[in-house]
Amino acid sequence: MDLRRRPPKPPVNSNPNGSSYPSSYQPRSSDDDHRLRTASIAPPPKASDALPLPLYLTNAVFFTLFFSVAYYLLHRWRDKIRYNTPLHVVTITELGAIIALIASFIYLLGFFGIDFVQSFISRASGDAWDLADTIDEDDHRLVTCSPPTPIVSVTKLPIPEPIVTEALPEEDEEVVKSVLDGVIPSYSLESRLGDCKRAASIRREALQRVTGRSLEGLPLDGFDYESILGQCCEMPVGYIQIPVGIAGPLLLDGFEYSVPMATTEGCLVASTNRGCKAMYISGGATSTVLKDGMTRAPVVRFASARRASELKFFLENPENFDTLAVVFNRSSRFARLQNVKCTIAGKNAYVRFSCSTGDAMGMNMVSKGVQNVLEYLTDDFPDMDVIGISGNYCSDKKPAAVNWIEGRGKSVVCEAVIRGEIVNKVLKTSVAALVELNMLKNLAGSAVAGSLGGFNAHASNIVSAVFIATGQDPAQNVESSQCITMMEAINDGKDIHISVTMPSIEVGTVGGGTQLASQSACLNLLGVKGASKESPGMNARRLATIVAGAVLAGELSLMSAIAAGQLVRSHMKYNRSSRDISGGATTTTTAT
Ligand code: ADP
Repeated sequence: MDLRRRPPKPPVNSNPNGSSYPSSYQPRSSDDDHRLRTASIAPPPKASDALPLPLYLTNAVFFTLFFSVAYYLLHRWRDKIRYNTPLHVVTITELGAIIALIASFIYLLGFFGIDFVQSFISRASGDAWDLADTIDEDDHRLVTCSPPTPIVSVTKLPIPEPIVTEALPEEDEEVVKSVLDGVIPSYSLESRLGDCKRAASIRREALQRVTGRSLEGLPLDGFDYESILGQCCEMPVGYIQIPVGIAGPLLLDGFEYSVPMATTEGCLVASTNRGCKAMYISGGATSTVLKDGMTRAPVVRFASARRASELKFFLENPENFDTLAVVFNRSSRFARLQNVKCTIAGKNAYVRFSCSTGDAMGMNMVSKGVQNVLEYLTDDFPDMDVIGISGNYCSDKKPAAVNWIEGRGKSVVCEAVIRGEIVNKVLKTSVAALVELNMLKNLAGSAVAGSLGGFNAHASNIVSAVFIATGQDPAQNVESSQCITMMEAINDGKDIHISVTMPSIEVGTVGGGTQLASQSACLNLLGVKGASKESPGMNARRLATIVAGAVLAGELSLMSAIAAGQLVRSHMKYNRSSRDISGGATTTTTAT
């Protein structure tokens, strides 16, 4: 029960210098730091420390005493009634038992009762502790700038030289102090101040003071913090700059696209650009969307494998599909259930729902639809225990054969024929060398490595760069980069047919990060910004084909570089500048 007791509030204004910061937030030397670190690990003294026995033993003694004397006295009471002995006549033993009962009752009331009442009073007062109490213990460190008492030994980074931060307006300085004192939780700044930029600035300042580390170099100005509120990022303190390069024109299905790529990998844009050029001169690429369906697969449990199997038969029975679709599609005017597949593992069923989601990537939409169906199913399967809305058979952001085989998001195949002379002149290699390398590297090599959907040279490079530029979820790069690159000599070995088949490109042009200004500008450049006016889903599908087209260009160029033995040379040129990264020199010389 000791754990349930609230720790005392951290002392404020208790420092010798009269500052309102808790001592651990004062600018300090590294010697101080060690002392404070060890001090913060020692628990504060408690009243219970004065007890002769450990608290749990004292509690056990008083519990036992209370119940045993209560039992004894009830026994005596029954005997007195049975033998007509007056109740007020008590023996010495009975008197001792009554005193012990009262004493143990007072102890237990003091220990549990007062604590119980206190908790009500402090909850009603709504102080900062109460707010923190509603939050998971693990999150507490994240959401306020006051670190909780660690339960394990924590080694903090050594504090470098004292940082000099910008002077804040007086009222902001007050708020920073409140955050540092734990009076205002850091996460609540936006709602309390009603100004997201100011909230970010104050949080950033508090963070710098807590850590003693400067955030100089991480920009704060020039970003619309309102646009990410409740949608893209919590507790912002700035934003990361990633350069955006342009590869293209990518000639795909008769359209020219300038493909934005956000990356810090030298050579990547240049290489993709070279692939686009080779494709362009050869007449461009053609793409086909094979499938378009986002998936979600909850895991549900029954008392028996038989019942789990009954659910599978019910869900996969074509006669039930229309009813399920009506229930599912209520989640959004864009969600349309396509199919339901159920896999059994013992008493557990994994139900993979697939649906079209218009121009949205669709995770929210499909999850809402699944929730609707699960609620509906409780009528026929009241014994169904929903363990989780996602049971990993979906499968989101994890390498999984199910996506590789069944597809997730948009399944796209993209192809091009590159003339032999272009292979020689632009790509500086030969058709035969490319075909052989593809066989031994992308097919046999990946098979030897036991790869899951990684039968390509670097699809994830292009996928990640386009995803970041266009506001997609970069974590979905895991499955979106699954790709098999095929190369075949055609026209009597003169030309090459190259294709990429990507079963799980998960993209959207509405929702998530796509509505942010920079990402939205990149979508606009591609002509796929927002919801399609022609037909819902058209923009997202087109974006998926652009991703595949850019991957095709990237594959063509990198494979050519490897076949020609150029890879290391070009990386040394574009990716390995000899800039002194120790912070001293500022000149950049390009190694050759
Ligand atoms: P996701 O399902 O990808 O997480 P969101 O739920 O964040 O996407 O965004 C989709 C929202 O955009 C939905 O509220 C949907 O009604 C709306 N929306 C507007 N136009 C479209 C469209 N053409 N396709 C899909 N969703 C659209």
